[in-house]
Amino acid sequence: MSQTRILVTGGAGFIGSHYVRTLLGPQGPDDVSVTVLDAFTYAANPANLDPVADSPRYRLVVGDICDTGTVDALMAEHDEVVHFAAESHVDRSLASATEFVRTNVLGTQTLLDAALRHGVRTFVHVSTDEVYGSIPDGSCAEDQPLSPNSPYAASKAASDVIALAYHRSHQLDVRVTRCSNNYGHHQFPEKIIPLFVTRLLRGGRVPLYGDGLHVRDWLHIDDHVRGIELVRTRGRAGEVYNIGGGTELTNRQLTELLLEACGANWDSVDHVTDRKGHDRRYSVDWRKAHVELGYKPQKDFTEGLAETVAWYRAHQEVWEQAARRTAAAVAGRGDLTC
Ligand code: NAD
Repeated sequence: MSQTRILVTGGAGFIGSHYVRTLLGPQGPDDVSVTVLDAFTYAANPANLDPVADSPRYRLVVGDICDTGTVDALMAEHDEVVHFAAESHVDRSLASATEFVRTNVLGTQTLLDAALRHGVRTFVHVSTDEVYGSIPDGSCAEDQPLSPNSPYAASKAASDVIALAYHRSHQLDVRVTRCSNNYGHHQFPEKIIPLFVTRLLRGGRVPLYGDGLHVRDWLHIDDHVRGIELVRTRGRAGEVYNIGGGTELTNRQLTELLLEACGANWDSVDHVTDRKGHDRRYSVDWRKAHVELGYKPQKDFTEGLAETVAWYRAHQEVWEQAARRTAAAVAGRGDLTC
């Protein structure tokens, strides 16, 4: 059987590693092989890929998506690309945007150029609802003008339009996905759910930004990975697909659920100054993915959150190790949340 050779960038991070574990796991297609290209920044965890390490259909390349030589050599050996690699944390982009522009914009363009040179069949570019900016009510469809506010969101928006330009100018089969806030196991403890859970489980305190009334839509990684696979296998060239989760919560509501799940109360919460330019609400309209691809989120949020908390409870050594490894990187910035 001929195998589709997929290059997965950022495959050692939270979502990318779940995608790789799913693809090479018992429920995944048996006609694909996967190469992970990952620079192993602070956000990566080598242990995220342990479950697939012995698969004959898996290969790991430690490298930077901005490195033309590495990217070019790899692209020549692959049929498709699923591109997750990014600097992904808004608060870090407020502290310094340099790496965000380098990786998210230049890195994406480096990959696209190589994909074009080597006639790659399909290039799935994984993006975010944050490119649409804040929306007070209703939901953003894919043709909504982009209005990113943070340097992170702006770097993702730039990469989206560059990716789509490679389709429009060169007919490269680029497909863009824009998802809402992901949650689940194996996430580096800096964004709100894993940060709060890991602190609360240790009896620590958690920082809630501003009035806590910022609204996010929560998407379980299983649903996100299923959505990406639908786009890779059934999506259309040059199209954007929103992938939503269907559970909208204010950060206060989420905090209440996390306190309860971890056996804590509001005494553990510090009300801290709001993040600069903090978007009030994101919401994506995912009807296009539903109608065209049959996408629908399936994970019940209460169940998904309980499983996530249980995972962090059972894998304390994994996230403590990750936090120790990156202690220097996060030193003095303990209030990072998403
Ligand atoms: P993550 O921060 O957990 O992982 C990012 C991965 O990319 C890491 O393994 C890191 O080592 C790698 N990486 C970073 N710079 C690199 C470079 N220059 N070269 C090669 N590898 C590099 O991110 P995530 O949460 O898994 O997000 C994956 C993608 O999904 C990103 O593109 C992000 O913008 C997007 N996204 C994430 C969310 C979310 O809720 N986490 C929501 C919307 C969109």
